[in-house]
Amino acid sequence: MSETRKTALVLGAGGFIGSHMVKRLKSEGYWVRGVDLKYPEFSATAADEFVQGDLRDVEFVRRVIQFKGEQGNFYNSVPYRYIRPFDEIYQFAADMGGAGFVFTGENDADIMHNSVSINLNVLEEVRKLNETFDGEENGTECVRPDLDQPTKIFYSGSACMYPEHNQLDPDNPDCREESAYPANPDSEYGWEKLFSERLYFAYNRNYGIPVRVTRYHNIFGPEGTWEGGREKAPAAICRKVAYLPESGGAIEVWGDGLQTRSFLFIDECIEASRRLMDSDFIGPVNIGSEEMVTINQLVDTAAKVAGKEVSKIHIDGPLGVRGRNSNNDVVRRELGWDYSQTLEEGIRKTYEWISSQIEDRAEVKQLVTAQ
Ligand code: NAD
Repeated sequence: MSETRKTALVLGAGGFIGSHMVKRLKSEGYWVRGVDLKYPEFSATAADEFVQGDLRDVEFVRRVIQFKGEQGNFYNSVPYRYIRPFDEIYQFAADMGGAGFVFTGENDADIMHNSVSINLNVLEEVRKLNETFDGEENGTECVRPDLDQPTKIFYSGSACMYPEHNQLDPDNPDCREESAYPANPDSEYGWEKLFSERLYFAYNRNYGIPVRVTRYHNIFGPEGTWEGGREKAPAAICRKVAYLPESGGAIEVWGDGLQTRSFLFIDECIEASRRLMDSDFIGPVNIGSEEMVTINQLVDTAAKVAGKEVSKIHIDGPLGVRGRNSNNDVVRRELGWDYSQTLEEGIRKTYEWISSQIEDRAEVKQLVTAQ
């Protein structure tokens, strides 16, 4: 086992943010184990070891948080004294999706049960593993040396935990970190996120587990879900525009399109998250963009990068709060980080990637038809 290389466990490594985080950690020289129900959909995982499994299962979590050496031997047994905690855990696993998944009410029980179970399991099993290190030097079969530093855990919370009453005015939403209470999220997804961030802080206070807690605001970019019902607004709109002919046409938009949001490009999200992990600040902290736009403006941006004339057909649909924008005062002060890309730059990259996905699919279809 290397004594110097940092080790990281990325939970939810088959998902959008998790798979990007694995790539980033690898580029920084970490040894990485990724865990998810599924492999990443759009490119091969960059993890040294990828373990497929269900983090709602306590026994699976107990085993998956044990680092057994760089040869990547999750499935092998190694002597007890060689088992170490990871240096860092990034917890991205959650039952999650865009407005069409979280705001209809149809998935509330699963969202709350599944995501809370994962967070409870991770914290409790890390606590138990930490307690088996008792400070005896030269560990024997049943004694482990002291921990230099207990595992740091990063938790990906969400701006969906902010109270609805502060987000009624689309021009002036209040999402400062300290505006969270009295709590009143508009969805069960938001309540779960609020409960879970409190859980991380409770384990920090009572058991000394170092945590870093963020509240992400609408992260988007290549390799994010873009169809199937769990996609978020930027991907859904890019997809709808990409499917229009070159001459343009009309796409459906949920509501009047005057609801406001801000969107942060994935690379910036990963940079800010890594800075938070490396800092002494435990959070909670917003990670987002302050470039607030209406959903209609988001459509216009996608139309502009596509070079298509796009009109909007407003239909009923799940909407979420009327207005939301990141407030970056705390992240600027504590991490010296701020968003730097415009929405248009991010949408351009995302639109190009979604268009290439659609083209690849058309090519496969043509091949199959020709055979
Ligand atoms: P994602 O859905 O792409 O990734 C989540 C991953 O968790 C999926 O790959 C899924 O298979 C995995 N997962 C779910 N249940 C699991 C289980 N029981 N066992 C193992 N793996 C399981 O979502 P994402 O956009 O990458 O989001 C990552 C995290 O960031 C989530 O916690 C999400 O709530 C939070 N977040 C994301 C955004 C955003 O805009 N993407 C905004 C706020 C917060």
